[in-house]
Amino acid sequence: MPRALDGKTAVVTGSGNGIGRAIALALADAGAGVVVSDVLVDDGNRTVSEITDRGGRATFVAADVSDTTEVESLITSAVEAFGGLDILVNNAGIGGGKVRLHEIEPDDFDRVINVNLRGTYLCSKFAIPHFLAQHDGRIINTASTYGLIGAPNAAAYCASKGAIINLTRQLAVDYGPDGIRVNAICPGYIDTGLGRRAEQLTPDEFDAATAVREKAAGMQPLGRQAQPVEVANVALFLATDAASFMTGAIIPVDGGCTTTFNYGEAS
Ligand code: ADP
Repeated sequence: MPRALDGKTAVVTGSGNGIGRAIALALADAGAGVVVSDVLVDDGNRTVSEITDRGGRATFVAADVSDTTEVESLITSAVEAFGGLDILVNNAGIGGGKVRLHEIEPDDFDRVINVNLRGTYLCSKFAIPHFLAQHDGRIINTASTYGLIGAPNAAAYCASKGAIINLTRQLAVDYGPDGIRVNAICPGYIDTGLGRRAEQLTPDEFDAATAVREKAAGMQPLGRQAQPVEVANVALFLATDAASFMTGAIIPVDGGCTTTFNYGEAS
């Protein structure tokens, strides 16, 4: 049976872990050849093995999305690996630590902006010429609910994700006439075991942070965290022709958490 992305090629940045890994698996299951990219070589290769073990097509290319030269060669390698490029998922990202703005060191602020925002710019910059040549391309940006609202102790992260959201709209304007669709997803509380942040925590800190997230997620309309595949399903949809009239859309995948203030007992 033909699949929605048979014959397509995708680059998914930050696909060694978490949401990016789930997106890579979903695109591969739909028939795409997937270039898995990450700074973490072992994690990226693990995602590739998961894809090939289930009969999919994937290869790994290490790249730091904030590095111009590495991104240029990532896109070149992707085109060479599968003979073209159709889908770019700008997913690589880092958090900014749990501090208020006056406590953020300038280098730490720059790092968050460089990975999250500049990385999205660079990967798009080098992918778009291929999309222009074929008058077809799909860019999916992983933003965040933190790009839609002000969240506590996350100034750099909120700023970077808010910028990705309006960059998504801007790219939709510039490249719509060229057949390139650009959309963003805004994940809320996703059960990725705190992602890479877990490595910086002691077991007690991990348990405390997990409990805080579960409690916060429990107060949202759907009352739980999502599995990464529930975000990946939306990215997959945006990558396919099923979303052929969608561009510049900013789609919360957040269990309803940005739809309402939590009234708790007051209601
Ligand atoms: P989430 O839970 O939001 O999916 P993770 O931390 O689990 O977040 O995954 C983010 C991925 O992005 C990780 O695999 C991480 O190694 C990757 N990543 C972080 N910084 C960069 C970067 N500069 N270039 C490429 N990949 C990166």
